[in-house]
Amino acid sequence: MTDSYGRNIDYLRVSLTDRCDLRCTYCMPKCGVDNIPHKEILTLEETARIVRIMAGLGVKKLRITGGEPLIRRNVTGFVRLVSDITGIEDICMTSNGTRLSEYASQLKAAGLHRINISLDTTHRDVFSKITGTDMLGKVLEGIDAAYDAGFPIKINCVPMKGVNDKDLDSVALLAKERPIDVRFIELMPIGCGKEHTGIRSDTVLHQLEENFGKAEPYERTDMSSPAEYYRFSGFCGNIGFISPMSHKFCRYCDRARLTSNGFLKLCLQYPDGADLKTPLRSGCSDDDLSEMILAAVRKKPLQHSFSDTDMTDDRKMVQIGG
Ligand code: SAM
Ligand code: SF4
Repeated sequence: MTDSYGRNIDYLRVSLTDRCDLRCTYCMPKCGVDNIPHKEILTLEETARIVRIMAGLGVKKLRITGGEPLIRRNVTGFVRLVSDITGIEDICMTSNGTRLSEYASQLKAAGLHRINISLDTTHRDVFSKITGTDMLGKVLEGIDAAYDAGFPIKINCVPMKGVNDKDLDSVALLAKERPIDVRFIELMPIGCGKEHTGIRSDTVLHQLEENFGKAEPYERTDMSSPAEYYRFSGFCGNIGFISPMSHKFCRYCDRARLTSNGFLKLCLQYPDGADLKTPLRSGCSDDDLSEMILAAVRKKPLQHSFSDTDMTDDRKMVQIGG
């Protein structure tokens, strides 16, 4: 499946819900969002059907996200469903970690390969300010549980001026004793992200080098992976930087997103895409759905332009699926 710029689209990020047990200030408004009514949300079987059709068109890698995916009932069953789909080689999840101590071993047994866990601070008071909850302890337990279950783990941290900028060293230290990668992601001006000021990756790298010494860059082999990795002496894991603002990686973009109500979205910034729920529920065949998916993929925008124009998609990150 290629878009009109010749990019091979083989990575699908599937949001299973727009609900979340945290209220990260840069992702979700304090008062929450108007949740999509349950009947509008695709069933796990409907979502798995779209995944199967897209696997037939060349999707190999799947990420399960949300909202918080572990809020959705029977996520483990969904992992089992998609791990049986021919062509899907890699199944990952992005989670806030609050429920991982309960689910990690079941997810491993069901066929999940890897987990990314979001953590912006290791300080309880800052965590409460960012997420509106006192669940840091549960997230740290979740990281331990995922590690004990044998998952490769990446920690994702979004640095923000005046919020968690003093905590980045302590988040990076999660990569010291265990082979866990810690990645710093530049804040994007999506939804509530516009209300905060992000920090450039090179600034974060310099800040870490002041504490941990010179970082050694890793040669990037997979151009579709947006992260650039470094290694600090004495660390078991790597430190990565994802820099959508300072170093656009759109020309290597290989992904599409499916929202929990069945909208296929081709770029984080723009609202363009295809509603797959309506045709799916009105009896369309797999072949018809394949045609709609291919037509939408052909219209994938060349790149985001967060820095020059206003966002045109009103959805918040929690509704899109990060
Ligand atoms: N609830 C899960 C979690 O937090 O990992 C999955 C969904 S969340 C939307 C996915 C990722 O998007 C998180 O790592 C979060 O930090 C990131 N994110 C949310 N809003 C963002 C923004 N405006 N800019 C950059 N990353 C953002
Ligand atoms: Fe929830 Fe994840 Fe958004 Fe935080 S970043 S509010 S955990 S969806």
